Amino acid sequence: MKQDVTDAPLHILTTVFGHPAFRGAQQEIVSHITSGGDALVLMPTGGGKSLCYQLPALLREGTALVVSPLIALMQDQVAALKQLGVRAAFLNSTLDGQQANAVERSLRNGELDLLYVAPERLMMPRMLELLHESRIALFAIDEAHCVSQWGHDFRPEYLQLSVLHEQFPEVPRIALTATADPQTRDEIITRLALTEARIFVSSFDRPNIRYTIVDKNEARAQLLRFIKEDHAGDAGIVYCLSRKKVDETAAWLATYGIRALPYHAGMDTAARAKHQARFQQEDGIVVVATIAFGMGIDKPDVRFVAHLDLPKSIEGYYQETGRAGRDGTPADAWMAYGLGDVVQQQRMIDMSDGGEVFKRVLRTKLDALLGLCESAGCRRVRLLDYFGEPSTPCGNCDNCVEPPETWDATEAARKALSCIYRTGQRFGAVHLIDVLRGKTTERITQWGHDKLTVFGIGADIDEATWRNVFRQLVALSYASPDHEAYGALQLTDASRAVLKGEVNVEMRRVAPARKEKSVKVRRGASSSTLSPPNAALLDKLKDWRFVEAQSQSVPAFVIFHDSTLAGIASANPKTLNELAEISGIGAKKLERYGAAILALLHD
Ligand code: ADP
Ligand code: ZN
Repeated sequence: MKQDVTDAPLHILTTVFGHPAFRGAQQEIVSHITSGGDALVLMPTGGGKSLCYQLPALLREGTALVVSPLIALMQDQVAALKQLGVRAAFLNSTLDGQQANAVERSLRNGELDLLYVAPERLMMPRMLELLHESRIALFAIDEAHCVSQWGHDFRPEYLQLSVLHEQFPEVPRIALTATADPQTRDEIITRLALTEARIFVSSFDRPNIRYTIVDKNEARAQLLRFIKEDHAGDAGIVYCLSRKKVDETAAWLATYGIRALPYHAGMDTAARAKHQARFQQEDGIVVVATIAFGMGIDKPDVRFVAHLDLPKSIEGYYQETGRAGRDGTPADAWMAYGLGDVVQQQRMIDMSDGGEVFKRVLRTKLDALLGLCESAGCRRVRLLDYFGEPSTPCGNCDNCVEPPETWDATEAARKALSCIYRTGQRFGAVHLIDVLRGKTTERITQWGHDKLTVFGIGADIDEATWRNVFRQLVALSYASPDHEAYGALQLTDASRAVLKGEVNVEMRRVAPARKEKSVKVRRGASSSTLSPPNAALLDKLKDWRFVEAQSQSVPAFVIFHDSTLAGIASANPKTLNELAEISGIGAKKLERYGAAILALLHD
């Protein structure tokens, strides 16, 4: 049933969606759309965008049409809405003719609150005709950054969506995206004809995500330790650059008992779909992937995103790490980073086909990311600053939790640069470090490098610190790898000032391995912080959810989110009324599952 229009949005929020209060700008957006305005909503992943059109859909006469680029995402959203008792359906290529006809009929008869469609479908003349014969409450354009030709999610069909404005000028439109940069924002406004729309910009902060960037020494072992110590049994994503590395890393993790599955564009479609489905539906799967694994993933309980390779830009890093912790409970963004990463990314830019302007843009983006990696200050401040949002140190990143020591590396930098120069700018960091530390390897004697004045002048500094010095020199552009000579390090224009002692070089000190680990203190409402009986309850609840999800063939989180189960396990409610107080339990779910949960808790 369509809700009575006099029903306050808050009433629907609590009874249908089971949330006690609006978040951020939700209330304002809902009332703006409900009263017929257009809006552009910029909110980070997990911010609660869907509610901004789902709630007006229940308040306005007619059916809300939701344009969404991904079929898997549509199906999950519709399944979740049906659980809430909302009349939702989707139209896409997975339906046969008969099923599609039935959906179209219900649309025409005004029996749907929300209808999800793929953009290419919406633009078919037949579909537009159908819309004209039906009553449309609003248009919601999800993932609106897909109109941007500069972005990596570009979908040409999105460009045609301005037709909606031309053909249905009186129907309000709401465009939503989690992409923050001003260029994309402007493109959405022009291409979707949203110049009259009100713009709602939320903070892009994801306070529940803890950012950690560690010095890479043995990346895989570091990753394994991170997963075992901090995320045993949790769902997570591990990003690697190449398909080969994806396959190897997944196989390697599996030998250590981690339920890891590979995902990349080189796999056949069926295998890929299967791994994605298992990730969505089962608890505690780790997907090791290239960035081909991404936009369709709206799993709320991803507890960590790990990077074994450096992304290309801060935008990329933020989008990928943003897939962690959509449910608002603590999550980790973890990255291992080393000199090899810097060299590799710079090489990819230099060797790419793009013109000079294009390469310069890429270099600037990479430099901003390297700045983040090398920073001794708050990671979050730096990230938000990149998106134009001022903030203060967060207390929830590696650098805040354990501020790194910095040291005056001017002397070391000079020695390193001299060593590059004296050896003829033809060697990589490994060999240069051997020279500095005065090792007599075969290669050194062969080249006569033990006769040089720089031989052994850096014996007082350990190897790990030297690796760090070289990485930071490259990241700061005081040295640059020659990509045509296997990454041999060369001097740059900026090197001269260091060599002449005109600038000081401050560097972060390398964190000893055990420190890297002690940064991890447990926090938040994850199962391990609940007292023991509650943890047992939580396990029971998860088992129940698993069976329920299987029997209905929906992902577990469609039944209840982890955060809701955690809420139940800590409150241990005795009555239906007490149960209804917990966030995530609306009237329909209470009616459907309330008795079963109470029985489970108190048998
Ligand atoms: P987005 O699309 O912006 O990434 P979603 O719409 O999927 O985010 O919402 C993210 C999570 O936040 C979901 O689990 C949703 O149930 C929850 N949520 C949304 N609004 C509220 C609210 N007002 N109170 C509590 N939880 C909310
Ligand atoms: Zn911080």
